[in-house]
Amino acid sequence: MNEMKKNLKLIKNNKTKCPTCGNFSVKSSYPFCSQRCSSIDLGKWFDGKYSIPSVEDPDGLDIVKLSEKDKS
Ligand SMILES: [Zn+2]
Repeated sequence: MNEMKKNLKLIKNNKTKCPTCGNFSVKSSYPFCSQRCSSIDLGKWFDGKYSIPSVEDPDGLDIVKLSEKDKS
């Protein structure tokens, strides 16, 4: 029960836990505890972005094929 009270206090104080390591976040690098954790999380996002173009590529090829059909 004490844990719940603690959590409520943390929400009131607007203290968020770092998504990367779980430490309390700092204003300067919100919502992370440090710039290091911020860049680690950014790295995760970039990894995800790299996988998106390979999924979208087939559509791009289809558009090219259609425009080639119009020409001929
Ligand atoms: Zn952290």
